Amino acid sequence: MLKKIKKNYPLADLTTFKIGGPAEYFIKISAKEELKEAFAWAKEKNIQVSILGGGSNLLISDQGVKGLVVLVKNEKLSVHGERMAVGAGASLAKVLSHAISCNLSGLEWSNGIPRATMGGAIRGNAEAFGCSISDIVETVEVFDVKKNKFEVLSRSMCFFGYRKSVFSANKNLIICEAVLKMLRKNKKQIEELVERSLEFRLDKYPNLPSAGSVFKNLDPEEIKKKNSLFFDREIKNKIGRQGLVGAGLIIDFLGLKGKTIGGAKVSLEHANHIVNTGKATADEVAQLISLIKTQARNKFRINLREEIQYLGF
Ligand SMILES: Cc1cc2nc3c(=O)[nH]c(=O)nc-3n(C[C@H](O)[C@H](O)[C@H](O)COP(=O)(O)OP(=O)(O)OC[C@H]3O[C@@H](n4cnc5c(N)ncnc54)[C@H](O)[C@@H]3O)c2cc1C
Repeated sequence: MLKKIKKNYPLADLTTFKIGGPAEYFIKISAKEELKEAFAWAKEKNIQVSILGGGSNLLISDQGVKGLVVLVKNEKLSVHGERMAVGAGASLAKVLSHAISCNLSGLEWSNGIPRATMGGAIRGNAEAFGCSISDIVETVEVFDVKKNKFEVLSRSMCFFGYRKSVFSANKNLIICEAVLKMLRKNKKQIEELVERSLEFRLDKYPNLPSAGSVFKNLDPEEIKKKNSLFFDREIKNKIGRQGLVGAGLIIDFLGLKGKTIGGAKVSLEHANHIVNTGKATADEVAQLISLIKTQARNKFRINLREEIQYLGF
């Protein structure tokens, strides 16, 4: 274990933002047993542990991350009928491509999400086009840090909701593996959905480094309660998928598309994405996030909440 742990390990390239300082200690684990050993090592040293998946929903501090950063890379993948057993470190892209080759449907919506892993997707209940990872999760095996043991949770024990789960509420539950229950379908049908998902993303998403949507979409009732005039005039006819109001719409109303601080910019293609135009720092991204939140609160009395996760702040 000690041999595999590196000091001062650069993290920026492990994120889609391409931003952030080094990990004080770093380990890449490819089997769940190594996860347990890594936590035992950190406990002995009395340092905290942070988990990194594909780094596609993360802002890492310019100062880096204190303690041990564990990159979850167990990529095991096996198919049993309509079920797939998947390691938390397997990328959604890899799982999708395997699913297509086995004529299994359920993950088509994820095509084009860069680098995301099964662990990160389950933690945040990733979704698109009205489908979500929770639709196909049957069980999740976790390492429970407090109990120092592995446990299997059924889907109902995962408490999935919009961009949340028991894993986002309880940082002591580290996702190791999952069993997905998919549907056998005609390959052509599957491939059509896969294509459509990619076309949509190529059309809408900026092609500079980003971490996807910065803010969670909003409950229309919350907007109505806080600012009924604004709701009636601008929002009520623009309620989108899942009955939510896009955070990008609010940022657009604020006139902040294209707003730049240093190398960080609100994307012109999608107002809920902040892009790294080249040399953005985490500090500049955080300042831009803070500016958007302040203006949303001051102008519309709306509280925007981050979807992206912070590491090292
Ligand atoms: C261009 C672009 C498009 C995107 N489109 C979408 C989209 O359509 N829909 C969508 O839902 N998301 C989208 N995202 C956001 C992102 O890809 C998802 O949130 C993804 O599920 C994050 O997975 P990850 O492995 O990259 O997690 P990371 O970014 O590495 O981590 C995110 C959080 O999960 C935790 N975590 C990671 N692995 C584990 C584990 N094994 N156990 C416990 N906790 C863990 C981390 O500690 C962190 O708190 C997009 C991102 C980009 C860059």
